Amino acid sequence: MANNRTFTMIKPDAFEAGNSGAILKMIEEAGFKIVAMKATQLTPVLAGKFYEVHKERPFYADLCKYMSSGPIIAAILEKDNAVEDFRALIGATNPANAAEGTIRKIFAKSIEANAVHGSDSDENAAIEGNFYFSQTERVL
Ligand code: GDP
Repeated sequence: MANNRTFTMIKPDAFEAGNSGAILKMIEEAGFKIVAMKATQLTPVLAGKFYEVHKERPFYADLCKYMSSGPIIAAILEKDNAVEDFRALIGATNPANAAEGTIRKIFAKSIEANAVHGSDSDENAAIEGNFYFSQTERVL
């Protein structure tokens, strides 16, 4: 997945609000191709595994509870410079600090319920994509 793929989730707040379609439209219009995608729901244990790097942080328990609270959409996206460009498209973690026109600025409800996930490195994009999708689920 070097350099041209990233991984995203449309988080429970955005899915529940019916914003998945609008967010996917922004993603496609920004030039990302959907390589794999599914609607699913994390268990608390799986949310804990996904966010294991944050296990020492004070919000870890709340984050795992929130991320397993409802359905999400998980997707692998392809574009040149995917990780960096996608982080620019989604905006800062805290929507209060996110730039105008970014997905989090438009759709996020709070620093926790911030609408979307975007991988922070090529290495994590590969790990996170593999967490959700087996080889046989990837058509592209
Ligand atoms: P990201 O890379 O922008 O998603 O941010 P981080 O990797 O720092 O944090 C992972 C996720 O944890 C964020 O997307 C939020 O959903 C949540 N989060 C981050 N910071 C906080 C915080 O201070 N409080 C709470 N409740 N959740 C947070």
